[in-house]
Amino acid sequence: KVKAMHVVDEPTVLPKVKNIIAVASGKGGVGKSTVSSNLAVALAKSGAKVGLIDADIFGPSVPLMFGAESARPNLINVDGKDLIEPHEAYGVKMLSIGFFVDPAQATVWRGPMASNALKQMIEEGNWGELDYVLIDLPPGTSDIHLTLVQTVPVTGAIVVSTPQEVALADAIKGISMFEGPGVNVPVLGMVENMAWFTPAELPENKYYIFGKDGCKKLAEEKGIDLLGQIPIVQSIREGGDNGKPAAVNEDSVVGMAFADLAAKLN
Ligand code: ADP
Repeated sequence: KVKAMHVVDEPTVLPKVKNIIAVASGKGGVGKSTVSSNLAVALAKSGAKVGLIDADIFGPSVPLMFGAESARPNLINVDGKDLIEPHEAYGVKMLSIGFFVDPAQATVWRGPMASNALKQMIEEGNWGELDYVLIDLPPGTSDIHLTLVQTVPVTGAIVVSTPQEVALADAIKGISMFEGPGVNVPVLGMVENMAWFTPAELPENKYYIFGKDGCKKLAEEKGIDLLGQIPIVQSIREGGDNGKPAAVNEDSVVGMAFADLAAKLN
């Protein structure tokens, strides 16, 4: 008698979410949170219902990037269960550990505490029906990544990197983790961030500060898609610091770049 090896249950976690997308990077500072935030906004602008979970427990930056540092989500009762009502900004519903604890405190948490915080945001958030939930992961490979894939049916992962060698070396580790045994999350593609810089006074020139086409070449090598190349643009940095993601301005070069990225997922 042949026994079924796997029992595939109906998802009980985020059952009304069509796509759960992990946004990862090998190294910190490559723009993973910036890409997550702007992509979330661009998806919302395209008409999708979007959620964003800031799982970068040790360095939550979603509150700052959405001007939501003072947001303190309430509990609401849904069908007899207390759920956390996500904060909403620029059409994106979001939860971040930064809403609940002083980020300086979270930094000293042990792995299990951070994993529990992530689980709580996923399982006890009042997410409702959504087309996408983006999960902004901490850099590297950690307990949090394992918790995530064990807790929710992740549709796929996006790996963000700069074209620089050291960043790419770590991005490869990230790709291997997602594709590896026990995790098995398809890599939807890479986003090359900080791909070049074009000064306003020399609009025809592209300066490849961190190297040229590093992600493009790596994606080709690994047989995965390059979803987009985002240049270094001052308004991206300013938008992040000022709490209004640059992609809000959909007619700008940046807005269009993120709209293209969003279209790749639609
Ligand atoms: P990570 O999440 O990978 O640690 P962040 O998204 O926090 O990285 O980005 C690091 C810094 O670089 C931030 O100050 C952000 O505003 C800036 N930044 C990211 N991407 C760009 C870009 N394409 N152009 C200009 N500044 C950027």
